[in-house]
Amino acid sequence: MAKLNLDGKEIKPLKICVIGDGDFIGACLCEKIIYDSPHQVTLMDESHKIKHLFGGNAARIDRFSYLNIDVPADVARLQPVLDAADILINIPAVCLPADYSTRTFDTIKSNFLDVVPLIEYCSEKNKRLIHLSSSEVYGKTTAGYLLKDDPLRKDPKFYVLKEDESPCILGSIDKRRWSYACAQQLTERLISAEGDEHGLEYTIVRAFNWVGPRMDFIPGVDGPCNGVPTVLTSFSNSLLRREPLKLVDGGYYLRTFCFIEDAMVALLLMIDNPERANGQIFNVGNPNTEISIKELANLMIRVHAKFNREPRSNYSTVAVSSEVFYGKGYDDCDRRIPDMTIINRQLGWKPKFTLQEIVEVFLIYQHKTYSKSERSSNRAS
Ligand code: UDP
Repeated sequence: MAKLNLDGKEIKPLKICVIGDGDFIGACLCEKIIYDSPHQVTLMDESHKIKHLFGGNAARIDRFSYLNIDVPADVARLQPVLDAADILINIPAVCLPADYSTRTFDTIKSNFLDVVPLIEYCSEKNKRLIHLSSSEVYGKTTAGYLLKDDPLRKDPKFYVLKEDESPCILGSIDKRRWSYACAQQLTERLISAEGDEHGLEYTIVRAFNWVGPRMDFIPGVDGPCNGVPTVLTSFSNSLLRREPLKLVDGGYYLRTFCFIEDAMVALLLMIDNPERANGQIFNVGNPNTEISIKELANLMIRVHAKFNREPRSNYSTVAVSSEVFYGKGYDDCDRRIPDMTIINRQLGWKPKFTLQEIVEVFLIYQHKTYSKSERSSNRAS
């Protein structure tokens, strides 16, 4: 029986082209499309984590193809796939905070300059564009600028992030951390202007710390030795190596985390409901998972120690300065709570996974995938 969208219309098979980050978000999105929709999908990236999509049920795999391609450089190979596609989904390739201040040129190039031709192409050829942006564009909250004892700090108006109301507050130019936010903001502004001025059909997605199995890399195992992954992966790496979990500047800042499966449900709703998703900017995050980084470290230690049947006291945390951990030019977002009004109203979407579930699923995956390699790298060092 044909699947229907939220307005009761039949979901017709589409050709979807996914560009960038084939390792985590791109791979999870391709999986979601193959297993839960009638659409065809082509992934374009240099990816290591999609081999499993080439095996199994032939009918499903027929709807998946992969081009190992350097997207901005290889226009000749890109063009025919773009021409055949109904929707183009652009996922940022350089999106690790550690890169924003150390690979600033690459960050701005990949998140703005390389996206401009895609925006122009979609606008000219009337292709629908779904662009993955980030909660990072909000920068710091207005509450963060109030005095510590100001009662307004407790007023959600000053810290809950709303797509159509909250300002985007970035730090000074020497704080290179904001290069990603600034590039993404410019991309968002260009896309939205193309929508208004030339009728581009677009949806912008602001990802609030999407996490789950397969994200990032373990330094020296499946990524660069000096690379710094995001916080969950970084903490899981320390747990596997039995090293203290490093709390940057004491770990006082707050984050919310959204499980990747929840986020993929939201993306598929956008694909299948163009009338509800076009011309929108959506926060996609989980406001119910807010935690300080210090508490997150303690939660991960508790879960990991329980899985290993060990006392919690076998593991510890240590405070490190952001300059030592990330280098000069780092700065931080104080808080990130997404407002859910727009995505709720347009798509009826709500995240389901709790923080406890997210941490458990993630740590089980990390243990299964990396415990052997961590043990051997510990022996070698
Ligand atoms: N962080 C930390 N220890 C780590 C990695 C990150 O204390 O090993 C902190 C980081 O300074 C930030 C928060 O955790 O305050 C989240 O960082 P992440 O890299 O996951 O991404 P962000 O949310 O800043 O985009």
